[in-house]
Amino acid sequence: MPRFSVPQAIDLTEKLQGIYQQIRFVDPNQCDVLILDDAALSKGERCVDKDRCFAFWGRSHRCRHCTSLCAYEFEKIHEKDEIKDGCLYHILSAPVELELSDKAIRPCVMELITSRRRNTEGRDLRDRMLLQSLSRSVRTTNAGIICFNNEEDCVYANVEAFRLFQAPQGELQVLQHFFKEWIDDSPLDTNENHWEQDYFMGAQHTEYKVDFHKVFDGEGRYTGYYYAIRDKSLQDILAHDENFDWTRDPLTGAYDQEGFQSAVANALEYGLVSDAYIICSNIKDFKLVNDFFGRGKGNEILCRISRIFKELVGESGIVGRLHSDHFAVLVDKGSFREHELLACMREISAMVESPLYRLCMHIGIYEIADRDMPVSVMCDRAHMALATVKDVGENYIAYYEQGLLERTLHEKEVLSRFDEALKNGEFMIYLQPQVNAESKLMGAEALVRWISPERGVMSPAKFIPILENAGIIYRLDQFVWESASALLAKWQGTEKENLHISVNISAKDTLFIDIYETFIDIVERHGISPSKLKLEITETALMSNIEVYNGLIKRLQQAGFQIEIDDFGSGYSSLATLKDIEADVLKIDMGFLQRSSESHRSTVILNSVISMSKNLGMPVITEGVETEEQLDTLRALGSDMFQGYYFAKPMPSEEFEARYFSERKKHDVQ
Ligand code: C2E
Ligand code: CA
Ligand code: CA
Repeated sequence: MPRFSVPQAIDLTEKLQGIYQQIRFVDPNQCDVLILDDAALSKGERCVDKDRCFAFWGRSHRCRHCTSLCAYEFEKIHEKDEIKDGCLYHILSAPVELELSDKAIRPCVMELITSRRRNTEGRDLRDRMLLQSLSRSVRTTNAGIICFNNEEDCVYANVEAFRLFQAPQGELQVLQHFFKEWIDDSPLDTNENHWEQDYFMGAQHTEYKVDFHKVFDGEGRYTGYYYAIRDKSLQDILAHDENFDWTRDPLTGAYDQEGFQSAVANALEYGLVSDAYIICSNIKDFKLVNDFFGRGKGNEILCRISRIFKELVGESGIVGRLHSDHFAVLVDKGSFREHELLACMREISAMVESPLYRLCMHIGIYEIADRDMPVSVMCDRAHMALATVKDVGENYIAYYEQGLLERTLHEKEVLSRFDEALKNGEFMIYLQPQVNAESKLMGAEALVRWISPERGVMSPAKFIPILENAGIIYRLDQFVWESASALLAKWQGTEKENLHISVNISAKDTLFIDIYETFIDIVERHGISPSKLKLEITETALMSNIEVYNGLIKRLQQAGFQIEIDDFGSGYSSLATLKDIEADVLKIDMGFLQRSSESHRSTVILNSVISMSKNLGMPVITEGVETEEQLDTLRALGSDMFQGYYFAKPMPSEEFEARYFSERKKHDVQ
C-alpha cells in the first residue's frame, strides 16, 4: 500500500490539482476529511461538521455505498459515480497510509474526484436532471428555449429556437454557434434578465425579446441557465403552462413513467421530502369514457386529474402519468390529508354526469418505508393496494400494508393452481352436523376444503374470496353441489335417507350460471328429492339484488327446494331482508352476536329475531353454537335447529358417516 509523509501528501495534492477537481484524504470510518497537518493528525483532531465527507455531497448522513470504505476495508482501489449539484462526478478511492513525523502510521483513503464527463450516459444523466429542473421553471412553450448547463454547453433547444435562428433541427452545436455569436453580453454577470435585441439574417431584420433565467435544482443549487426568445412581432397567443421536455407526458404535462421514477428517486436521494407516500390511481373502466363520450372528453378528464393532483401535492410533490388513466404521485406525508384526496376524487367523479357510466377512482397508497427501494417497486406496492379494490363501484382508497405482498403471491398461486387442483381431486366436502332441539341429527352443511399437497388442509377463507373475485367460484360450487347430491343419492334407501345437506350459493354464482337450471339438472341426474338439498344464500347477497333473488327463490321453491337466509344479522339491512325476501329458513350466526360486548342486548335481539322469524313462518337454525349455555338460551328462545363446534366441527364425509351411522350411536349426536 502506498505510504506518504504529510508533506509528501500535500505535495502530491498540489501536483494533481490541475487534473482532478478535488483531491482529499479521508477517514472513511468517521466520514472525516483529514486535515493535512502533522500536529492535528497526531492529536486526532476532527474536522468540523460542514467539512465532513458526506456534507461535501450535500447529505446529512453517510453515503449509502461509500467507495472509500470499501477501498479501506478491502485494501483495493474502488471507483464510482456520484451526483452533486446536478453534475456527475467520478470518484476514485485509493487506500494509502500517512506516516506522521512521530512515525505513527495512519491508514486512510485518498480520493481523486473528477467532474469530467466519463461517458455519454453520465452526460445524459446530469443534463436530464438539469432539464427536469428546467421543466419546472419554464412557463411558456411558444418561445424559443435554449438551455445551457453550468459548463456552458448547450444541452437543449426546442423546435422554435431552431426555427428562430434558422439552424438545422437537432444540430445543437450549430445553433449554439449562431446564438453565441448573436447574444450581446453574458447576462450571467449582470442582473439584467429581460431585453430586446435585433437579429439580422441576410436582409431580414427581426426584433427578438429575450428572457434570461438561471435554473436551480430542488435544493436551490445553480445547475445552468436558459434563454426564452420570442419574435416580438408575434403575439403570445398560446401562452400555456405546459412543459416540453421528454420526461413529460405531452397531454397532461405531468411526468411520464420514466420521468416520474427519476424525479422521485432524486427527491428521495436529496432529501427533498422526508416521510412520503406514493399514491397510484386508476379510473374504473376508463375505456368506457372514450367509448361513450369520445376521446376529447377522456383527454379533458386526464388533464384535469393532473391539475388537481398537482394542486393537492403542492411544491414538494411530484405528479406522473404512468400510462393511460394511471397516475402516480409522490406526496410528503406531513402535507397529505386523506379527506382532501377524497374531495379531489369526488371532483374528478363529478366530471361525468351520465346514467351510462359512473366515474369511480380507485387509489392505492404505499408509505415509503425503505427509501433505497427502486421507485418502480414502490409503485408496484401502491398498485398492489389498488388491486385489492377491484370490485368497488365507488371512489375508494386502499393502503399497502405489510403482508399484502404475501397475500398477492398467495392469490396468484391459488388462481394458477385451481384448475389442476379441481381436476386432481384436491377439493373435498366436509360435513358439519345440524341437529334439532332434541339433539337429533337432521342433516349437515357441506363446507368445502382444499387438501393441497403443499399446504395441507386449507380453509375456505383462504381461497373462496379469491375465486369469487376472479369470477370462477361457480366452478367450485358446482363441484360441491354435485358431491353433496352424490352423497344424498348414496344415502337413499338407507337409514340416512331422511337427512338433508345444505350447500352454499355464492353471490357471484348468479352472474355466471343459471342457478335454477343447474339445480334442476343436478337433482334429476342424481335422482334425489330437491327438499333434501337445502340452498344457503347469504343475507348480503340477497339484499344486493332483491328482484333477481326473489324471482329465483320463488321458482326454486316451486321446484321443491328450500332456501335458507345464511349469515343473518351480518348485513346492515337484516330487518329489510325479512320484509323483502320470502325464504324458508333463517340461519343466524352466533358469531355476529357474540362480537357485541353487551350480552344482554344480544339476547334481547336474538329473542325478537327468532320470534319475528317464526311469526313469518320461517324456522330458525342457529350456527356457531359453542357452549352448553348458548344452546340452553337458544332452545329457550325457540331456535329450531343448531349447528356448531359444541356438537362437532366440519369433518370429511367418510368420518361423518362412520360417526353418526354406526349401529350403536344411531342418529343421536350427543
Ligand atoms: P358459512 O357458510 O357461514 O359456514 C359456517 C362457517 O362457520 C364454517 O367455516 C364453519 O366451520 C364455521 N363454524 C361452524 N361452527 C362453528 C362454531 O361453533 N364456532 C365457530 N367459530 N365457527 C364455526 P368454514 O368451513 O371455514 O367456511 C367459511 C365460509 O366459507 C362459509 O361460511 C362460507 O361462506 C364459505 N364456504 C364454505 N364452503 C363453501 C362452498 O362450498 N361454497 C361457497 N360459495 N362458500 C363456501
Ligand atoms: Ca353457509
Ligand atoms: Ca353462515
